Amino acid sequence: MKKELVIKLAELLKNRKLEKEIRIMEVCGTHTAEFFKTGVKDLFPEKLVLIDGPGCPVCVTPNHYLDRGIEIAKKHNTIVTTFGDMIKVPSSYSSFAKEKAEGMDVRIVYSPMDAIRIAEENPEREVVFFSVGFETTAPSEALAILAAKEKHVKNFSILSGNKLTPPAVEALLNADEVHIDGFIVPGHVSAVIGRAPWNFIAQKFRKPGVISGFEAHDLITGVIMLVDMIEKSDIALKNNYPLVVREEGNKKAVEILYSVFEQSDSEWRGIGVIPGSGLKIKDEYALYDAEKKFPVTPPPVKEHAGCRCGDLLRGLITPPQCPLFGKVCSPENAIGPCMVSGEGPCSAYYKYWRK
Ligand code: SF4
Repeated sequence: MKKELVIKLAELLKNRKLEKEIRIMEVCGTHTAEFFKTGVKDLFPEKLVLIDGPGCPVCVTPNHYLDRGIEIAKKHNTIVTTFGDMIKVPSSYSSFAKEKAEGMDVRIVYSPMDAIRIAEENPEREVVFFSVGFETTAPSEALAILAAKEKHVKNFSILSGNKLTPPAVEALLNADEVHIDGFIVPGHVSAVIGRAPWNFIAQKFRKPGVISGFEAHDLITGVIMLVDMIEKSDIALKNNYPLVVREEGNKKAVEILYSVFEQSDSEWRGIGVIPGSGLKIKDEYALYDAEKKFPVTPPPVKEHAGCRCGDLLRGLITPPQCPLFGKVCSPENAIGPCMVSGEGPCSAYYKYWRK
């Protein structure tokens, strides 16, 4: 999009006069970071409030997942493979980074296929991929399990912390703890699952939503569309990312995903157990399911004292309202996962808002 047009759109948003306060939630962690990084958040007119939602996979993963992962690696001397964000996330008592410093074999990978390669190179060791993610990354993990089966790699498994995003939004709306007028709906997730799984926002809860991309012009036009819809009581779910998000999503990716995973109940940090919001590995692939392959009893869960990540993920507060923000808790000394992940609201506020 031409720069002049983006500047005009920015002016339109900035000069918008609102009769009353409008509160919109962005569900996706990448949106959280991009609203700040692109400066679009600075264009928000007075009375337009942005609420962060439960869209950062690392942030919504409860401590007990990491506790279990660390226990598996310790007890079964496995090679730990995971994405970079997960390494520093504090568990109840430790983190993969701390364990690595004490000798645990922890390796950052860029895809689960890297973990399979490591398993092939180390046939005498078990390799576990610690996976937290949403609909966007889960299909590649399903593919990895299918590839491991095809290649007869038996020393590779996944500890699935994968989750589905629409049930979390539905749980927030059902809980009705925070007033939300409309939603900026995740573009990447929608590219996989399509529009239909989000229809409940308008149909059941009578709130408008806009599926949005991630560039500045996507965010600006998405917010302008959403504000228009809220002011006109135009209750619908609109797709402002049509080049990427097709109505039916990516059917092939969804098919692959559900050939290996099935829906399960799952616990979300701050929200609790949400029925049908998790993805567990089907029994027929139990050989690749680290939870079944390596039974352990992790230590009792301990929450991070003073951390308000859970309240943040429910939209109840913004990061600066956490008493530890920027004082005790920073990216260098993260108390909770919302400060560790690049998609975490505390990390986004710390990097961009304080400036
Ligand atoms: Fe938790 Fe730190 Fe965020 Fe506070 S600033 S909610 S302690 S991650």
